[in-house]
Amino acid sequence: MKLCKFGGSSVANATQIRKVLDIVLADPARRIVVVSAPGKRDKDDAKVTDLLIECARRGIDGNHVEPAVEAVVERFRSIQQELGLPEALLAEIREDLLARVHADPEDEGPYTDAIKAAGEDFSARIVAAAFRARDVPARYVDLRQAGMLLSDEFGGARLLDESYPLLRDYFAGIGDDIAIVPGFFGYTRSGRIAPLPRGGSDITGSIVAAAVRAEEYENFTDVDSVFPVDPRIVPEVSTGIREMTYREMRELSYAGFGVFHDEAIHPAVVAEIPIRIKNTNHPEAEGTRIVARRKLRQGNVIGVACADGFCTVHVGKYLMNRDIGFGRRLLQILEENGIPFDHAPTGVDNINVILQERFFPPEIRERVLARIRDELGADEVSFEPGLALLMIVGEGMRYSVGLAARAIGAISAANINVEMLNQGSSEISIMIGIRAGDRKAAIRAMYQEFFLPKTRA
Ligand code: ASP
Repeated sequence: MKLCKFGGSSVANATQIRKVLDIVLADPARRIVVVSAPGKRDKDDAKVTDLLIECARRGIDGNHVEPAVEAVVERFRSIQQELGLPEALLAEIREDLLARVHADPEDEGPYTDAIKAAGEDFSARIVAAAFRARDVPARYVDLRQAGMLLSDEFGGARLLDESYPLLRDYFAGIGDDIAIVPGFFGYTRSGRIAPLPRGGSDITGSIVAAAVRAEEYENFTDVDSVFPVDPRIVPEVSTGIREMTYREMRELSYAGFGVFHDEAIHPAVVAEIPIRIKNTNHPEAEGTRIVARRKLRQGNVIGVACADGFCTVHVGKYLMNRDIGFGRRLLQILEENGIPFDHAPTGVDNINVILQERFFPPEIRERVLARIRDELGADEVSFEPGLALLMIVGEGMRYSVGLAARAIGAISAANINVEMLNQGSSEISIMIGIRAGDRKAAIRAMYQEFFLPKTRA
């Protein structure tokens, strides 16, 4: 059995939803379908999830929520009408959204979460109805009944492992119906709606695929395959990646490959479910397959990505290497302030802690830096924003000589300063810290170095 997940652009309007139906019906193995909320129909359009977040914001501010609700209902109305689905379905959607919006906004977290998750819920009901309109037995999956249990964290919950047997039992009991599953959210143990992080329908797909032990997790999006570099930065990139490993995908997603959510890899890895990225608008294309192991070619770099939004806390202290517990106390100050750290390369008498800027806003920054200075007796504490992390990824890397030299050579030839270099801990990637403003130039330099055939003089 295969599980297919369709992203926002694949369910953005009636034409796209017809393609979804055709794709699912073309292969009898496709039994479970996970859907996102309708995404953008063109580049100036809004995603339904963003419209819903706007509804929640207005509900909290007590500020004209009705037009925002109507904007959402309108998106579903146009789909319902064009697909000739029952009026009653739209009435149900409107009523449900109004109930969420008119709930008590006092508790802002749960209030926003319930509204934000509505797009996937309505999308699944619409897609299930569209199958039934074609006389195909399909059922909308109520995730509370199915047992999709998530942690009690606002805005970005995580799966509770006890969900797996519950989900397995639920899907074993649905008979011949095609199951239409809303992506992006689940329920806490206390029954509250809890969304996954943004873009989280990929994670839902992976969780359900793992629970039912699907033979393949097909993730339908709007590109023929995953490209080795971001085609928005290098438009001439034409050859996609045919096969890559979970670890390669995880590292590239972390560094900004938007095709697949980085947290979606884990459930598939644990259950060893192969993932295939495919194009709803061109389903004949083979796509990119993501698996546990692949054949290696020496020196193979599979992809390069660069994520910005990082900053560095630099801490220097003479004889730091002799100060037992220094690292622990430093990280404890971050922990006590709820700040996750991403990397911590060290020198002889100094350590750089690399954080995501969004977790280190000015309100807490000064307090944290002062604590580091005072409590650790540091000689030097400084903060630098605007860091980007360039990741050069490939399983073959650990067997090849000279890759780092080539990467650094190409970076300096492009006149980009290297702020940090880390190849130590990951066997499959080289991470280079650069200024965020150099991000695009660095990607282009890496493309020329690793993916363009070299013309010899
Ligand atoms: N609709 C949600 C978002 O826009 C989740 C998803 O599409 O995967 O983030």
